[in-house]
Amino acid sequence: MTTSATSVVRTRFAPSPTGYLHLGGARTALFSWAFARHHKGVFVLRIEDTDLERSTPEAVQAILDSMEWLGMQPDEGPFYQMQRMDRYREVIAKMLDDGTAYHCYSSPEEVEAMREKARAAGLKPRYDGTWRPEAGKTLPAPPAGRKPVVRFKNPQEGATGWNDLIKGPISFDNSELDDLIIARPDGTPTYNFCVVVDDWDMKITHVLRGDDHVNNTPRQINILRALGAALPEYGHVPMILGPDGEKLSKRHGAVNVMEYDKEGYLPEAMINYLARLGWSHGNDELFTREQLVEWFDTRNLTKSAAQWDPKKLNWVNAHYIKHCSDAELAERVAPRIRERQGDPGAVDLGAVMGLLKDRAETLNQLTDGAMLFCGPYTPVSPELAAEHLDDAAKTLLADFAGKAAALSDWSTEALDALIKALLAEHGVKMPKLGIPLRLAVTGQKQTPAIGAVLSILGRERVLERLAAL
Ligand code: GLU
Repeated sequence: MTTSATSVVRTRFAPSPTGYLHLGGARTALFSWAFARHHKGVFVLRIEDTDLERSTPEAVQAILDSMEWLGMQPDEGPFYQMQRMDRYREVIAKMLDDGTAYHCYSSPEEVEAMREKARAAGLKPRYDGTWRPEAGKTLPAPPAGRKPVVRFKNPQEGATGWNDLIKGPISFDNSELDDLIIARPDGTPTYNFCVVVDDWDMKITHVLRGDDHVNNTPRQINILRALGAALPEYGHVPMILGPDGEKLSKRHGAVNVMEYDKEGYLPEAMINYLARLGWSHGNDELFTREQLVEWFDTRNLTKSAAQWDPKKLNWVNAHYIKHCSDAELAERVAPRIRERQGDPGAVDLGAVMGLLKDRAETLNQLTDGAMLFCGPYTPVSPELAAEHLDDAAKTLLADFAGKAAALSDWSTEALDALIKALLAEHGVKMPKLGIPLRLAVTGQKQTPAIGAVLSILGRERVLERLAAL
């Protein structure tokens, strides 16, 4: 089925809240989101929380937080399947009425015996259709006191297929598909059935989901057909592999989306990187969210599994850091400095970001660097002092302090010029002054460019520390 030019594209992301949102889920959500945005359609969020044993409110919250962090707000929802039970029961009753579903009184043990029998005969294990109504067939009498399940009366002839948006044509013989249980003995609907009713009610036009659902699709299509519902188009996204070619898992590092926030990745870098995992626009590696929306097309989704590449993610993140304004980086890094008991207001944090951002891959690395300015000052250790702060060094530093105090302009340029002049005057090379100066002012032997460090630390602090030597 193709969407006519006038119908609104409606996509959905339908996570089961059984844990945090993982990278694969986030990427599926992103494709659905981008597809809806590209077509100026509607992106629906649906929480599939019917697995009461495994679903938790914390997982729901984690999913909502991750979606918000990545900037994929739904246009509709979140809808919760547990709040739609009446609707599912209503549709089940209607199907029973219409004869597209039927009560089956076979006990689980009986069904297992049927399967065993089929297996023994070299056939596919399946329910044998004892309770399936057919024209001219007399059904057994329901056993007293046994509550039936409801089974979908799946077509037995022909094939069910679709033209997958990613994988191309896929088809299953109907004879391969069992009469699916759509309601348990207590009346609660089953997973595939809820998905069908939701996709129908929510008028979903395009289902993009992980390819672990390919086997569910023919069953869902058959139920939709039985309901007289329009079929969405389906696209099944291949999974993400780790750098070693195995299914991406914790072994490969963090798979929880929010871990990446903690580690200092920018959401825009994450979006860019995740989009490239299985989707491409020519050779473009770096693009904005707006460009992704403009370019997104299911035709450019790849059939083969994508491979997680942490180095590339770092490269993408470094790009976004470099292109972020100093002020915005300061805003993003400030809470991280506070978390480490530092004071983000101790210096001009924007200037610190400007100094560090060309070489940082994550916000955490920027924070590491910023602690030189915002963390507590620890004077040089006696060992380093003994090694580097001899009399000659102290003379140099005293000369520097005197001349620096007289500077009218405390800029990086002015300080660099002063350092250069001193080196010439004393006939020494940079390390002879650079190392003692760094040690005296920061307590550390290695820092970013010393002129900039001194400028950011400010006249007062620098002179005070030099005086205390
Ligand atoms: N709830 C399913 C999952 O988390 C997704 C179902 C679907 O997209 O149809 O795997």
